[in-house]
Amino acid sequence: MTRSTDRSVAAFERASRVLVGGVNSPVRAFAAVGGEPLFISRACGSKIYDLDDNEYIDYVSSYGPTILGHAPEAVVEAIGLAARKGTSFGAPTLAEVMLAELVISAIDSIEKVRFTNSGTEAVMTAIRLARGVTGRDKIVKCIGCYHGHSDGLLVQAGSGATTLGVPSSPGVPAGATADTILAPFNSVEAVSQIFSQAGGQIAAVIVEPVAGNMGVVPPADGYLQTLRDICDQAGALLIFDEVMTGFRVAPGGAQQLYNVRPDITTLGKIIGGGMPVGAVGGPAKIMDHLAPLGPVYQAGTLSGNPAAMSAGLASLNEIASDPDFYSLLERKSAELEAGLREAANQAGLGEKVVINRVGSMLCCFFSALPVTDYASATACDTRAFAAYFNGMLNNGVYIPPSQFEAMFVSAAHTSDDIAATQQAATEAFKAAADVM
Ligand code: PLP
Repeated sequence: MTRSTDRSVAAFERASRVLVGGVNSPVRAFAAVGGEPLFISRACGSKIYDLDDNEYIDYVSSYGPTILGHAPEAVVEAIGLAARKGTSFGAPTLAEVMLAELVISAIDSIEKVRFTNSGTEAVMTAIRLARGVTGRDKIVKCIGCYHGHSDGLLVQAGSGATTLGVPSSPGVPAGATADTILAPFNSVEAVSQIFSQAGGQIAAVIVEPVAGNMGVVPPADGYLQTLRDICDQAGALLIFDEVMTGFRVAPGGAQQLYNVRPDITTLGKIIGGGMPVGAVGGPAKIMDHLAPLGPVYQAGTLSGNPAAMSAGLASLNEIASDPDFYSLLERKSAELEAGLREAANQAGLGEKVVINRVGSMLCCFFSALPVTDYASATACDTRAFAAYFNGMLNNGVYIPPSQFEAMFVSAAHTSDDIAATQQAATEAFKAAADVM
């Protein structure tokens, strides 16, 4: 495919003069894959268009929120209707109540909700809540899991932090992470050992139940249940960060898929229908420690914003209106996985590519060995990934510009999209094979 990107290149130059690195979130800068980022002019359904009017099949899906595809009619209409009535009041609205009711009806472990503006804020609140409830300070986090960019959690985080090779960040004081204990994802032994040494001081274990910020890494059999058991024995809380997996891998999130009940759940992405939203949820006996009922402080000028709540409501209602929504998504995602495997085989990379998938989250690693944690994810050939990424882009498929992000399938992807993706992937895998 011959495509001009002149307008995106010019926009990036202009952006780089006024925005740090030309972007407002590091992974968007394409630093890990080379070249200039596409500047997006519009998107509709499964397709996204850049300023040069190139069309791509989009699997970035805004890093997860757009599970219905881009600009679904019901969501766009709901945002418009809400905005016309006023964009922010600093006072309660019924939309907040209705969205909370939907979240509670979908996720068994949640009786009460607090909405925030982002996943980062939701996780910050969850950690403070866990510390406030238990009266303990230490938290256990998995290496390579990303829980937003707050100080205490920016230690060996995945996502952009991994892509840029910055395992933690200057500006984070040692004191802020002194109570964060690290464990490799999927290692029961590591968590057991940590608890045997410091169990009585640990407020919570926080985990992405399906790791989606070191590429996609599913939990090993029994891993999440073991975390549950260890937390129970030590009186610590278990936090599932379902910002990515909530309403993505099942209506009730990964906790439904794996049948493990956390004490606190964080949400974001899909529940905002593409608008900025996060949420913390759990049983009333935990959630009621938050202000104004309890002493654990948390607040937000724009929290529960009416336009964002309306977008979330419209999205979740749309999902719920189709009883086959998740089985269809699973079928398409399995079709995509099979297509990518076939493409890798055709390029002679059958034994050198690992495809991890949980529902509509998936990721190709350039590795001959299984990818089960951060160490095995970062051992993959990222040069091959960069070649694969650019091969996909040149053939009309937009995937995340980092080995350590997930591709997301949406309800708007069609069988034709998936067939075209397989074709593009055959070329992209050949490009990767050339540099391996
Ligand atoms: N938690 C997880 C699991 C995430 O994937 C992310 C973002 O990708 C966050 C938290 C942070 O959410 P946000 O980017 O909305 O602050």
